Amino acid sequence: MNPFDRVVAGLSCRDVLNRLSDFLDGDLAPEERSAVLAHLAGCSACESFGGQVQQLIVSLRASAHTSPVPHAVSERLRQRLVSGAS
Ligand SMILES: [Zn+2]
Repeated sequence: MNPFDRVVAGLSCRDVLNRLSDFLDGDLAPEERSAVLAHLAGCSACESFGGQVQQLIVSLRASAHTSPVPHAVSERLRQRLVSGAS
């Protein structure tokens, strides 16, 4: 089974990845934002992506939903997504 199809907190990893750039831009609805956070908090598959995604997850967990994602992390992740991590 494709690890991207793993569903945690109502979202698959693919759904989460599709929402990450909106998440980083603050464009997600509050309930979607919480769903992404809940997924990342409980998903070992996302955690195992490594690199920028893992850094993002670690910083999100540490910030407990309140602080913004460190700019350097969000920028590098955005570039990685744009350059095609499909
Ligand atoms: Zn996941």
